[in-house]
Amino acid sequence: MTNIVLQLSAEQQNNVKSSYASFKVERKAPGVVFAAKLPDVAVTVYSSGKVMFQGVGAEREASKFGEVTVNKSITKTTNPTISTKGDRLPENFAAMSVLGSDETGTGDYFGPVTVAAVYVPSNKIKLIEELGVKDSKMLTDTIMIEMAPTIMAICTHSILTLRNDKYNEIQGKGYSQGKIKAMLHNQALKHVLEKCAPEKPDYILIDQFAERDTYYKHIQKQKEIVRENVLFSTKAEQLHVAVAAASILARYSFLTEMEKLSKRAGVNLQKGASGLVDKMAAQIWVKHGEEFLRSISKWHFANTEKARVLVNKKRG
Ligand code: MG
Repeated sequence: MTNIVLQLSAEQQNNVKSSYASFKVERKAPGVVFAAKLPDVAVTVYSSGKVMFQGVGAEREASKFGEVTVNKSITKTTNPTISTKGDRLPENFAAMSVLGSDETGTGDYFGPVTVAAVYVPSNKIKLIEELGVKDSKMLTDTIMIEMAPTIMAICTHSILTLRNDKYNEIQGKGYSQGKIKAMLHNQALKHVLEKCAPEKPDYILIDQFAERDTYYKHIQKQKEIVRENVLFSTKAEQLHVAVAAASILARYSFLTEMEKLSKRAGVNLQKGASGLVDKMAAQIWVKHGEEFLRSISKWHFANTEKARVLVNKKRG
């Protein structure tokens, strides 16, 4: 357990207090003037001006307020072969009961944004691994479509599909993709926690697309915000099978929706946002009109204007 103590001025202490206001907890110990509990670090401010950071995230948090020298031998990572950004995970994390979440479709011009959250309790980890669930980047779409129903039958999960009409509507109101994603993740996690109750995961792991502070700023106006034991990491699908499973379900629902849209458009919709997409968008625009194209695309992408140029050229 990493334990870091800083001696801070009154002003710096206030800075600590306001930084962790939303993580504040009551601690009625002698000399304690403020305490906060983050998923991977506990912060305690003492009347003496000493501030203690305790837990695997101690170094990260303490270094925001003062110079930290830590004995590196006590802060080894869970899996030294993967370099990730985000929270330092507890020892033996991969064997814990974890609720994981991931999204897909955010970089694709056609089709929805989908977010999935999956709870894999420790006693189901082996079963899920035996299905072949792993980093979705190592699996083909066909395999993921086959796997998804089994994952859904075994694990408590939630899948949210934000279709293009709704996406374009809220994007038009000024919601950034980060905000849209954060809202969907929060909602999916909440759904799964509700379904699992009273059982609780040891931790929640979000495949990191934004820093913790940014994530929570995005969803600060939501009625219910999932905060307890939430960890963030990039490449999270390699860190726990729950995130790998979530990634597969998100992909599954994206592909399913893409198939429906392809039928309506009369063409196999191109994934991504490349020049091929521009050409396809232009063809669809000419054939089915602007409103139809809008209803199957993320309209604010640069592809729309590129397609417009192609359409105008065609029309001479
Ligand atoms: Mg992701």
